[in-house]
Amino acid sequence: MARAGIGILRDAADVLADRKQLDPQKIKEIVCGIDNVVDCHRIRTRGTNSNIFIDLHVTVKPDLSVVDGHKIAHIAEQRIKGNIKAEVDVVVHIEPLGSEAD
Ligand SMILES: [Zn+2]
Repeated sequence: MARAGIGILRDAADVLADRKQLDPQKIKEIVCGIDNVVDCHRIRTRGTNSNIFIDLHVTVKPDLSVVDGHKIAHIAEQRIKGNIKAEVDVVVHIEPLGSEAD
């Protein structure tokens, strides 16, 4: 019991202690630098420093093909991963400009 308690405390202390590398503004700048990206919002980060999860919405030009939208999602994922020195999972939600209901 005691050992489990210590483990939980240690995990809690490790939760996103290094927030600098996960600054949503920095993530937004990285993603908005990609061709055909109009905006980036709803950036959420969670997890621990050694296992980070990021999800975000990326608004793109509405006339892009599915192929191009898919490429952008992959580029966003790779650039975010390239800028964060930790194991990170990225989920990109692509939406066309004019449909930003959420
Ligand atoms: Zn959205």
